[in-house]
Amino acid sequence: MRKLYSDVVIIGGGISGLSAAYFLHDFRKDLKITLVEGTDRFGGKIRTEPLGELVGEAGPDTFALGYPAMSTLLEKTGLEKEIIRPFPNKAYIWTRGGLHPIPEGLVMGFPSTKVGPLINSGILSFSDLIRCSFDIILPKTKIDGDIGIGELAEKRFGRGLKESIVDPLIGGIMACSSDRLSTKEVMPALFKAAQENRSLILAMRNSTKNNKTKRAGSASFMKGLSYMTDKIVKELEDVEIIKGEKVTGLAMNDGQFILETEKSEIEGKSVVLAVPSFSSAKILESNFPEISAKLSGITYTSVAIVLLAYRKEDFNPPFSSSGFLVSPREGKLMTASTWLTMKWEYAKSDDYFLVRCFVGTPDDVRWEDMTDEELTGKLNSELSEVVHITGNPVKAKVIRWFNALPQYKVGHFDIVKEVESRLPVGLYLTGAAYHGVGIPACVTDAFNVAKKISEKIQEKDSN
Ligand SMILES: Cc1cc2nc3c(=O)[nH]c(=O)nc-3n(C[C@H](O)[C@H](O)[C@H](O)COP(=O)(O)OP(=O)(O)OC[C@H]3O[C@@H](n4cnc5c(N)ncnc54)[C@H](O)[C@@H]3O)c2cc1C
Repeated sequence: MRKLYSDVVIIGGGISGLSAAYFLHDFRKDLKITLVEGTDRFGGKIRTEPLGELVGEAGPDTFALGYPAMSTLLEKTGLEKEIIRPFPNKAYIWTRGGLHPIPEGLVMGFPSTKVGPLINSGILSFSDLIRCSFDIILPKTKIDGDIGIGELAEKRFGRGLKESIVDPLIGGIMACSSDRLSTKEVMPALFKAAQENRSLILAMRNSTKNNKTKRAGSASFMKGLSYMTDKIVKELEDVEIIKGEKVTGLAMNDGQFILETEKSEIEGKSVVLAVPSFSSAKILESNFPEISAKLSGITYTSVAIVLLAYRKEDFNPPFSSSGFLVSPREGKLMTASTWLTMKWEYAKSDDYFLVRCFVGTPDDVRWEDMTDEELTGKLNSELSEVVHITGNPVKAKVIRWFNALPQYKVGHFDIVKEVESRLPVGLYLTGAAYHGVGIPACVTDAFNVAKKISEKIQEKDSN
């Protein structure tokens, strides 16, 4: 077994670990930093997947702009100049038996600035619309500590809006049941509005009027999102990089951390665990059992992505669109479908139409027992209910992600706070499980952790 020494050891080479290494090196060029990744590739959930000559995405296909740490990372690595924007095509919701455009003026499915587009979209029946208007007259909702986003939507606007709009948006983005998703932590502005006001429509309208910040939109790269993680890895030339070695345990000896992999023992003054929380729980199990037990309370959902390439003439969407989300009311296997060819320049082709479909929620794991052929066949048949399809896909790829998306259930942040308060000095956690699932939230958290470490070292240096 080889023995290594480092000032800071970062475990996990997904966007969180890569960003933490990048920022830390940027803050303190004098530190010896080691990054350990358990597999042979970097990027974690970010994985651009070729489908023949086409560029597809197995994980995320986009990231939101407008987050300061994300902007810094893009600027410093030179990636900023290479971002591409999606085509300005609308997204739809499959509900009430067909596709309806997602109306403007919604915040995570909640009506805010405008109600006209919601009324005209055809998403809600007349009686559902009437029920939505009750929000103006209903007494304030009693909230005890926190409330699920879906539960709040249903209380204020009724089941119609919850099931036709809020559920598909949350299911499609976070693969989570809206009833279990914490409003307090995931939508703090909405939570505050619900706590302080009677009508949510009026409160949200006022807050959007006062908040003139323009949404910055989203982005990707011509070669897909792995281009970004590959570029960050290239920028880490002064960081010691170990790949294909899974960290199996962590101990403390004389104020130093000792990490074990199958082949190495790595001693470090500080350690950053940038792996899924269940992996951190495993690493910490023997020597930090209480933290490990708490971390095990964070649960994950498994999902699958299915890439389907049709001959262009065989896939005839009824309109230009970036794709659609599916209301669970429809009882479909698919939770969402992105029409990559109508969303990204890189997926434009003279010959093919590239589609990707999502399946999997905590309440629907039917896909896990299906073969790739069964899954592809089922999704093709569901797609043909809303798109005129005249031939089977000519290429298909199924990517199964087990325990992929952490669930920010009511009470999630109590777990996170407690875990963070128990961490020994020098041990840090970052990643999708703690302060936000999306790529920019991961980069922001990694930035904050890198800053904390460099400040702590600065403090020690000056004592
Ligand atoms: C299907 C899907 C679609 C998504 N779509 C979007 C989207 O469009 N936009 C968006 O912003 N976000 C999206 N997300 C969320 C986002 O991609 C992830 O939350 C984010 O990439 C997680 O990054 P991470 O570095 O925290 O974790 P991961 O990407 O999971 O990386 C963790 C790394 O740690 C390594 N590792 C684990 N255990 C060990 C160990 N013991 N030793 C060493 N290494 C280990 C793993 O191999 C992995 O490389 C999506 C996620 C999924 C699954």
